[in-house]
Amino acid sequence: MKEPIPIQQWLPAGPLRDMGEKYVSQLPDVAQNPIGPESLMHQSDHSWSEYLVAYSLLYPGVVIILALLGGLGLGAFFIFCRRREYSHRIFCSKCGSMMYPCGLHCPECGTSNPSPRALNWIGYSRLRTVVPPSGWKRHEEVLRSYRRCFYCGQPLREPSLDQRCPACGKAVLQGEQSVDRYDAYIGRRRGWTFAAVVVLGVVPILGPLLASSLYRRTLINPYSLYMTVYRESFLMVVLFLCRHLFRLLPFIGIIGMPVLCVTEYHLYRRMFLWKAEKYDFRGE
Ligand SMILES: [Zn+2]
Ligand SMILES: [Zn+2]
Repeated sequence: MKEPIPIQQWLPAGPLRDMGEKYVSQLPDVAQNPIGPESLMHQSDHSWSEYLVAYSLLYPGVVIILALLGGLGLGAFFIFCRRREYSHRIFCSKCGSMMYPCGLHCPECGTSNPSPRALNWIGYSRLRTVVPPSGWKRHEEVLRSYRRCFYCGQPLREPSLDQRCPACGKAVLQGEQSVDRYDAYIGRRRGWTFAAVVVLGVVPILGPLLASSLYRRTLINPYSLYMTVYRESFLMVVLFLCRHLFRLLPFIGIIGMPVLCVTEYHLYRRMFLWKAEKYDFRGE
């Protein structure tokens, strides 16, 4: 129980450990207890201070490694989902052309897909979850939010509202009510996304990373996928850089993430609505 636990245990040899040891040697001399639930009860326990010093010295490296691992894992998951969806495309029962499992209609003849599949959280078809007919209107908005054709599910390539589906030729938006419906659908995600961002922001290391990835996916991408951010506005570029900086800085992340989430949402949304206003619906 009384065996001392030195800071060396948590830090690799080198300048970091020297720095940690120097700091710890200046701390008041209190009991060293092994770190465990009961050691939380002891007053001014040295083991905890040493652990926290080691933790804050290792912090930047840990964040970078976690971000890299997460990025690699996510990239592999994207490729896996895209390939799986492509190889599971289905034949139209009427004309025999291929369509994506998530599509609502055949791109060639317009026959309804008898069992359209739902999308997963990165926007690719799930193979088992079927959308019931009562959910088809909503499914159109879900497809739009991942920049896929609302009609046939084909992924759209251009970061623009002024494009037609390469498979079926439908425009992205169908009339002014379609803009409002889409905007309202995204707007419904505001409440829970903001709550999750606030809660996640407090979690050390991973919190800001997860919070910024979450709100980008639910609130920003549905608008930003239809614009080229770098050419649109200087403010957007600044916010983009802030997001990526803040997610790596834990103490700014706690306050910064909710503020960024709200600011970015409003900016991207306004830009999208402004673009949709200029959009020519007569060309349908
Ligand atoms: Zn067909
Ligand atoms: Zn289409």
